[in-house]
Amino acid sequence: MVIKNYTKASQQLREKLPLPLKPLAEIAYNYWWCWTTERISLFRNIDPDAWQQWNHNPVALLQFVSLERLSQLANDPDYMKRVKAVSEQFHRYMAIEDTWASRVAPQITHDRPVVYFCAEFGIHESLPIYSGGLGMLAGDHLKSASDLGVPLIGIGLMYRQGYFRQRINGHGWQEDYYVDNIFEQMPLELITDADGKPITVELEIRNRVVKIQIWRVQVGRVALYLLDTDRHDNDPLDRWLTGHLYGGNQDTRIAQEVVLGIGGVRALEALGITPAICHLNEGHAAFCTLEVARMEMQRTGKSFYDVEQSVRERCVFTTHTPVPAGHDVFSGDLIESYFSHYWPTLGLTQEQFMAVGARRLGDPWEPFGMTVLALRMCRTANGVSALHGEVSRKMWHIMYPDRPMEEVPIGHITNGVHQRTWTAPLLSDLYSQYLGEDWINRIADPQMWNKVDEIPDEELWWRHQLLKERLIAHTRTKIKRARQQRGENPQWVDAADRILDPNVLTIGFARRFSTYKRGYLLMHDLERSLRLFSNPERPIQIVFAGKAHPADEQGKRILQRIYEWSQQHSLLQNRVIVLPDYDMYTGRKLVQGVDVWLNTPRRPLEASGTSGQKVCFNGGINCSVLDGWWCEGYQTGPDGKGMNGWAIGEDAHTSDQEMQDKIDAESLYRLLEEEIVPLYYDIDPNTGLSHGWIKMMKGSIKTNAPLFNTDRMVADYVAKVYAPGIQLDVESIRASVLV
Ligand SMILES: *Cc1c(COP(=O)(O)O)cnc(C)c1O
Repeated sequence: MVIKNYTKASQQLREKLPLPLKPLAEIAYNYWWCWTTERISLFRNIDPDAWQQWNHNPVALLQFVSLERLSQLANDPDYMKRVKAVSEQFHRYMAIEDTWASRVAPQITHDRPVVYFCAEFGIHESLPIYSGGLGMLAGDHLKSASDLGVPLIGIGLMYRQGYFRQRINGHGWQEDYYVDNIFEQMPLELITDADGKPITVELEIRNRVVKIQIWRVQVGRVALYLLDTDRHDNDPLDRWLTGHLYGGNQDTRIAQEVVLGIGGVRALEALGITPAICHLNEGHAAFCTLEVARMEMQRTGKSFYDVEQSVRERCVFTTHTPVPAGHDVFSGDLIESYFSHYWPTLGLTQEQFMAVGARRLGDPWEPFGMTVLALRMCRTANGVSALHGEVSRKMWHIMYPDRPMEEVPIGHITNGVHQRTWTAPLLSDLYSQYLGEDWINRIADPQMWNKVDEIPDEELWWRHQLLKERLIAHTRTKIKRARQQRGENPQWVDAADRILDPNVLTIGFARRFSTYKRGYLLMHDLERSLRLFSNPERPIQIVFAGKAHPADEQGKRILQRIYEWSQQHSLLQNRVIVLPDYDMYTGRKLVQGVDVWLNTPRRPLEASGTSGQKVCFNGGINCSVLDGWWCEGYQTGPDGKGMNGWAIGEDAHTSDQEMQDKIDAESLYRLLEEEIVPLYYDIDPNTGLSHGWIKMMKGSIKTNAPLFNTDRMVADYVAKVYAPGIQLDVESIRASVLV
């Protein structure tokens, strides 16, 4: 497969730009720009206000910026040099052939790439086709695959409106609304044939033919193809199939999964891409295995059962959900209405078809499970942390009655984050100074991270304080705007300028507001909390952010309770903040600016979690229930206390949820009162710093950074899943990132 740098859309943009700025068009159409500062600031400097307004979308910015401003920049020799340097860097990056993957796994080639299927991708806030953790993981996977040179492409859906947007009204109640994505103003290219006609594939859905067109987004060296049914020649109902991410009912859900799975495989064929491996990231895409089988049957004339094994050789599966109710399951009726025309093409009867998605063979009237289908049709399956692997083996043991639990074929690869996306520039700069110039290419190397100890305390601290101020500034702006939009009185609007204090211990809590994440835990004992927040010498403050699913009334109620509580005391109004409309941008400000990242899931319901990992790269410290990745990250010193963060509730577990809440809240209060707050405010009068705190920050960075990053994670996928058998030596994992 050839990676084209010039797309038609970028060509059009290029024509508009003055000569020295022309390279910007090409860079704007490749999200490679979003993983370092110099490139981001290249766009920001064009017009900082417009940059914010366009949600950091360089294509829209360049389309709408005035010709006068462009000429001004084109006449600025410094700016011209910067454009030239970044453009050269870009071309070198795209052309690198000697990559980590080419050395260790030459058997995976661009002619037969790994194809990564996912219902959502979190690449950047300007491409809002994500809702949360699953999307972030997928986006970070593509970025590290690009940096490591893994021949991989992505397949997803291009949503007209994406996930819902969130407003919080004057009563603290979440209001949902939707915004149209205007594809022509986004860094997308519609795939067309030589005559300029969109390439389409067809599916039969609800007895109608639906045409799907394909958009391409470039993420470094990785192409992401996004399927879209919003075409004039489709029935108006079908045009909305790719309208919303996780909206609608079971009916829309299955239809979308048919588009992603079956449509995805047909799109690959239309694009001339033959996958070596289909990686199903979560069960949503599992129908793709059936289509792979159907095509193989067509080619070879064999039966479904005869090709099953060869399909399995080519498909791999990652599961993300530790709760049975979180796995997509479709009723026999629903399957019938979507697949009665399809099972004959597999040579199967209805009963045989249903059996492929039934947990127990011989129980054909059980509903059709997407995870079951994936487990049955894939060569390997993995959870996303060690604990989640274990929970998954227990949950799916029923499918493997002849084996002991430990032999259920589900392993684990622990999640990570794309360090270059999530680390603040101020800290990257510090790491360049103390870890060595090429640190950015060696982030999976634990030896290298030990050098964090050499960073002078004051150097780390002042940078961290600046980042905290940045978070506070962002919070004030966002709250002020929200108050203005609600038409609040001017005094209350201006009061937003007094929210949060950079000298106060700052906690962040940002995640979906669903009950199991227990956003309410810090309100378990309101008196005790109030004492912590309002302590005159050693107060704390907290920023909450996150959306509750539109159908989740309980989640919305948790959000509202936090808001109401923050409004009960004038002191809390500036110290307990609920930030609306959590997205990747707010996420970056939060994970880069907090002192402590709080995570309180009901164990073991957090499969992995990744936001806490982002915090580590920025010197923040985790205080979390020992669930998901934190079971593997948390380390204690000789005194039995945490040396890189804190563990809530330690190992006390009960199935009585109220009791568990009580135990965990008590543990959280005790940690805050006896360890976290005293350590933070234990300031050396000579230096003005808490050296104990900074030691903990360094512990957080150096122990977690080499493990919980996507370079290590993608390398693990290569060695254990894509090209099994390769020996992985963490110190030799090298990303090719040019700086
Ligand atoms: C990292 C991130 C998530 C996922 O965080 P979890 O810890 O898995 O809940 C969700 N949303 C945004 C915007 C993020 O940046």
